[in-house]
Amino acid sequence: MVIRMRHTRSHTKNRRSHHALKAPTLATCSNCGAQHRPHHMCLECGFYKGRQVMDLAGAKANREARKQAKKDAIAAQAESIAPTEAAAVSQAEAPETKEEK
Ligand SMILES: [Zn+2]
Repeated sequence: MVIRMRHTRSHTKNRRSHHALKAPTLATCSNCGAQHRPHHMCLECGFYKGRQVMDLAGAKANREARKQAKKDAIAAQAESIAPTEAAAVSQAEAPETKEEK
């Protein structure tokens, strides 16, 4: 840094006087009383301006159902793969037993 570019401590502090963090302003939900961002839907109950705009319980149920369906699909796929692997292992072991005889 060239000395020409150097700021005084006072200039640095003046600049940094605007860097303080502010606490977020929150509104109280009229339905459930939880804190939420103003002009935004309540994330606890899905209400905005006194009416339900999103079915959060239903959305959660759908999400859980999708997750369970995915787990079931993976389990079914693993079951369909496992017998072929077992067969391949038994086929690989069979010649060895024949050689031993
Ligand atoms: Zn709410």
